[in-house]
Amino acid sequence: MKFEDLGLSEPILAAIRDCGYDSPTPIQEKAIPNILMARDVVGLAQTGTGKTAGFTLPMIEILNGGRAKARMPRSLILSPTRELAAQIADNFDMYGKNCNLSKALLIGGSNMADQIKVLERGVDVLIATPGRLIDLFERGNILLNDIKILVIDEADRMLDMGFIPDIEKICSLLPPLRQTLLFSATMAPEIKALTSKFLSNPKEVAVSAPATTAVTVEQFQVPVSSPKAKNNVLEKIIQQENVQTAFIFCNRKRDVDSLSKWLANKGYKARAMHGDMAQSARMETLEKFKSNEINLLVCSDVAARGIDVDSVSHVFNYDVPMNPDDYVHRIGRTGRAGQKGRAWMLVTKYDDKFMMALLKRIDSKIETIKIDDKGEEKHSGKTDDSRKHQSKNTPRENIPATKSKGRDGAKNKSQRNDEVADVNGFGDEVPAFFNN
Ligand code: AMP
Repeated sequence: MKFEDLGLSEPILAAIRDCGYDSPTPIQEKAIPNILMARDVVGLAQTGTGKTAGFTLPMIEILNGGRAKARMPRSLILSPTRELAAQIADNFDMYGKNCNLSKALLIGGSNMADQIKVLERGVDVLIATPGRLIDLFERGNILLNDIKILVIDEADRMLDMGFIPDIEKICSLLPPLRQTLLFSATMAPEIKALTSKFLSNPKEVAVSAPATTAVTVEQFQVPVSSPKAKNNVLEKIIQQENVQTAFIFCNRKRDVDSLSKWLANKGYKARAMHGDMAQSARMETLEKFKSNEINLLVCSDVAARGIDVDSVSHVFNYDVPMNPDDYVHRIGRTGRAGQKGRAWMLVTKYDDKFMMALLKRIDSKIETIKIDDKGEEKHSGKTDDSRKHQSKNTPRENIPATKSKGRDGAKNKSQRNDEVADVNGFGDEVPAFFNN
């Protein structure tokens, strides 16, 4: 199928051609015609499947017909994180560049006065995180009575982050006669309930089984004798792999900070990103990562969902994620748009519980690679091509010619008993399951 067959008009098709897309992805093929027919849609799709274009392209098509009034946006996209919201806004600009539509991005951590000014001029599309939207609504800065299209993106993440009551509240403020599109990687009972309450006879479109990992990502786990040994093991892996750009996920913000400093002190182009950092610093770091000024982004799960950076060759899980869905999202940062990616995870004896939950959830294999905490790597016994790939690749391109003196990795204490407050780095967006 071609984009031309989906019912999109020439200005949008021209923008798609400029993006270099040959043909629609499966979720786009299934979702776009239904959205253009004004149907409610439930899209079961992971990030990396092209789902953002799957809803933004037909929205642009629909909205292109009319114009917004002051403070009365015509459509609303709800996103769980600021980064994802900003990315959706970028997508809107890219796909809508030939259509004269206006948008406002309402996210926490950004200047509210500027956001209010944009709203007052009237916007076609409002892209918001739930908290900031409710805040501005309650201050009387937005009227939601003209919303014709609502998108709830990453609904499973909304659930994890405890946003479902906010979503319900927002839905109840919107006109009942509207089109609603809900996207989620998994369909938990709470999301099903949301769907039956707020969507009307939705068309279900699915492109992969819930919580499956992309086939283009090879997965490895490395047993590590103690949390203290993690930094050195991680460095060994980085040196063995041909890392172009990589996300390194930690469960704790303190580890994000200390590991990024440790790597930077060793001469790697590493930076930290987590929910405690100012929004401007998070955006700046992301831009540097996208432009390859830094190539190791040490981060909390705030960066795991939806953040779209081309050609990420590797994902490293410094810790086993506590929530198996996070694993799927973390490793989904690589192996995107058909490219190959490699995901490595460090596992200590303290991770048994999380590992069991993870292995139950995913349907793919994670190969065990043994790396001596001090010495040479030992393979699990199985030989495969990926192993050959590792040992051949030189790591040196990651390390600038002059290395500064490294700090002692033992200083970076990872203790399983760390308090879990904001463990995933969400800042003000603490997932509900940590409170349970
Ligand atoms: P998403 O799942 O929305 O995060 O999109 C993943 C990536 O796929 C993004 O980099 C998009 O720019 C890209 N993409 C979206 N649609 C297409 C397409 N039809 N062909 C190729 N790449 C696409």
